Amino acid sequence: MAQINENFIKIPATYLFSEIAKRVAQHKEENPTAPIIRMGIGDVSLPLPDASVDAMIKAADEQRSAATFRGYGPEQGYAFLREAIVINDFTNNGIDIAEDEIFVSDGAKSDTGNIGDIFDVNNRVAITDPSYPVYVDTNAMAGRAGEPTATGEWTNLVYLQCNAENNFVPALPTEKVDLVYLCYPNNPTGTTLTKEQLTVWVEYAKANNVIILFDAAYEAFITEKDVPHSIYEIEGAKDVAIEFRSFSKTAGFTGTRCGYTVVPKQLMGTAANGEKVSLNKLWNRRQCTKFNGTSYVVQRAAEATYTPEGKEQVKSLIDFYTENARIIREGLTKAGYTIFGGVNAPYVWAKAPVGMGSWEYFDYLLKEKNIVTTPGAGFGASGEGYVRFSAFGSKENTIEAMKRLER
Ligand SMILES: *Cc1c(COP(=O)(O)O)cnc(C)c1O
Repeated sequence: MAQINENFIKIPATYLFSEIAKRVAQHKEENPTAPIIRMGIGDVSLPLPDASVDAMIKAADEQRSAATFRGYGPEQGYAFLREAIVINDFTNNGIDIAEDEIFVSDGAKSDTGNIGDIFDVNNRVAITDPSYPVYVDTNAMAGRAGEPTATGEWTNLVYLQCNAENNFVPALPTEKVDLVYLCYPNNPTGTTLTKEQLTVWVEYAKANNVIILFDAAYEAFITEKDVPHSIYEIEGAKDVAIEFRSFSKTAGFTGTRCGYTVVPKQLMGTAANGEKVSLNKLWNRRQCTKFNGTSYVVQRAAEATYTPEGKEQVKSLIDFYTENARIIREGLTKAGYTIFGGVNAPYVWAKAPVGMGSWEYFDYLLKEKNIVTTPGAGFGASGEGYVRFSAFGSKENTIEAMKRLER
């Protein structure tokens, strides 16, 4: 008899996006001609940079001939891509990261989800609340989250509230934790930590033997100078942090699939006998065992984002979404809403009018304005009372949606 991993049935069905779809479908049925604008999406809408498409075509052509054909590549990623990553994302920004600290993957969802493989089930995990659901559910699957309570929170997770009261800067945990997930710029709130605020976390991690799992999937959207693009901009972070990066939101790779994880060689975990063990070695072992590398063609596409043309094309993608975010911020502010984020991220986090919950506000925007958002409560208890507006739509729709709200 094949017994299942019981942890899977403890996880509540992800009701967020199916519930949104259900409510939108019902509204459409009742109002077949309603001009619905979708601002709930977490997917990009602009096509890939030409440089990446050209690189893929060239790489695909190479696969036709025995002389240039590539079979299995290095599990950690091809040297050409790891080198381009090191130079462009780190060395050029004054950060000392080596090629063998970079692990190329099929994206940050896999890596942020899989990283738990190298950590004991008894580690205490802290997450910011609200948060990207992957951190919660993958720890639940591993048995590290304990039991779900009636409110949807897990008994063994430590929730670090982020709300208007603390200006979305999480307080340090008051109880002992071993792992902390931080995502900045943040999904879903679109808020950031300044260099000074992130330094507090690095110093806390150092003093308390905590490992920070830093998700920087949105670093390309940073516009403000004092917001770090990488946690390794903070002195000492290589001793305490793993960083996750993705080409998805940066360069439109959501369907093409490429990301990478940085595991510094000096970063140590602790074995049961007290010995210090290299997490870089463990992650390498994990990847070599369970992963056979990202496709050659896709790695060439990722490499091309670092060419002069690629960089320019990526910049224009980011500029496009950043302008949408600005339009949303301006529109919501004019309409009298209290908003957060959207300056260094493609998400604007809007406070529901007093007395209105996330889903009520969602329903109001859907029924009265034909605008689809994402209810904040879907990202955790502290998201209650907020909705997320995404800047990934078209400019026309973004402008039209804001016109409707200003009325
Ligand atoms: C979109 C997103 C990612 C990227 O996931 P990929 O698997 O690289 O597409 C990672 N973290 C967060 C918080 C995200 O929103």
